[in-house]
Amino acid sequence: MSTTITINPANGEKVAEYERITADEATNKITLANKVFKEWKHFSFEKRAKLMHKLADVLDEYKETYAQLATKEMGKIIGQSRKEIEKCAWICRYYADNASKLLANETVETEATKSYVTFQPIGVVLAVMPWNFPFYQVIRFAVPALMAGNVGVLKHASNVQGCAFALEGAFTKAGFPKGAFTNLNVSAKYVKNIIENDHIVAVTLTGSEPAGRSVASIAGQNLKKTVMELGGSDAYVILDDADLEEATELATFGRLQNNGQTCIAAKRFVVLDAIYDDFLELFTKKMKTAKMGAPTDEDTYYGPMARADLRDELHEQVEKTIAQGGRLVLGGVVPDRKGAYYPATILADLKPGMEGFDEELFGPVASVIKAKNENHAIELVNNSNFGLGSGVITGDKNRGEKVALQLEAGNSFVNKLVASDPRLPFGGIKNSGYGRELSSYGIREFVNTKSIWID
Ligand code: NAP
Repeated sequence: MSTTITINPANGEKVAEYERITADEATNKITLANKVFKEWKHFSFEKRAKLMHKLADVLDEYKETYAQLATKEMGKIIGQSRKEIEKCAWICRYYADNASKLLANETVETEATKSYVTFQPIGVVLAVMPWNFPFYQVIRFAVPALMAGNVGVLKHASNVQGCAFALEGAFTKAGFPKGAFTNLNVSAKYVKNIIENDHIVAVTLTGSEPAGRSVASIAGQNLKKTVMELGGSDAYVILDDADLEEATELATFGRLQNNGQTCIAAKRFVVLDAIYDDFLELFTKKMKTAKMGAPTDEDTYYGPMARADLRDELHEQVEKTIAQGGRLVLGGVVPDRKGAYYPATILADLKPGMEGFDEELFGPVASVIKAKNENHAIELVNNSNFGLGSGVITGDKNRGEKVALQLEAGNSFVNKLVASDPRLPFGGIKNSGYGRELSSYGIREFVNTKSIWID
């Protein structure tokens, strides 16, 4: 019997060990999910909303327990873990209150007596999820999917298996029927078998580009719909009229939040020539004073990375960038301490063709890039295979909006770090994936958009 072992990245110690389910157990759980779907799809929005409000209450009630678990399994600093659970409760309440409006029939005037579009649930949706927001990523998929009348099965990242079981428990505590939301503790290799199961109708994956390519191609072979939320290398343009104090404050938080491991983290800073040196000096000062420490300490600014192997990979990317001509301004040395820590690091003067410019740096490492002028900055931002989020920092909102509209990304924010919000669609373009989550766009990804014509 194989197991999934979770490790506390702050000290390298084992947290827990979970027995993986067998192939027969996985099949039985998916069969049960499909059986429950046949009933759940007939529940009214009011009935589903009632349970979803209860789930929000459970998340509130167990906030501290869930937050401590997330911190223990993947190293998120405790204050941010609590905020993650609060956001999950918000999403539950948002969809409980709005799903019926978001999925209301849409009348279309034609020559028919009556013609309209209706949105019907499709069945059991598989979610393959990452560890970086171990509660939020799952809730972001599960809540709209269930409110639309679908049911969900989860293959969570191995290093946060405790969070996966806690989530399943939260749905049970809230009173959802057994099988409406199911955790499948299986290895990544087993995902192919799950996708091939006839009861699985669609797959959503949040994770890396290689995982996305593999899962999307298997789903494609089986003609099952997918949504892909993949990596990003979000760039922020710092215009020459920006308030540098505010810009560097945002840059520091944007790069270090979640210990540098957010898909929409600010990763590349494209700074106009006129303010480049001043920005770099102030940014370095702030990154240097941000406190690295134990994720359970309330005054820690950023903690360890989620796994030692991910830290080692990041360090290799930093060394490669330096070898390619990138200038190391801060950090870049693996600290001599227990745990998967990596210091706040700044690589400056980066250019296309260098690792830190072209690839995602999924940790506390900032890439700083000099642009000759505004158009050059836009060109540099768009010179990327990724297109998840992007931003503009400026003293002139209109100028910021004009630049934002030209950035190739699923989200462009002016004077604010990109953040997901249940009221707005979230997703990327290019190699950052396709499809949208949240808002009306997200809830309509996994429905049968059906035309009705009464002659
Ligand atoms: P990952 O290695 O791709 O893992 C994500 C999930 O996919 C895990 O459950 C993993 O299982 C599974 N998996 C990995 N390879 C697979 C394969 N070949 N077939 C089927 N399943 C597979 O990514 P991660 O390290 O957890 O997360 C970091 C990445 O996710 C970053 O690139 C980040 O930008 C991206 N991300 C994107 C978004 C977004 O909304 N666009 C949000 C968060 C993160 P195991 O853990 O068992 O390997």
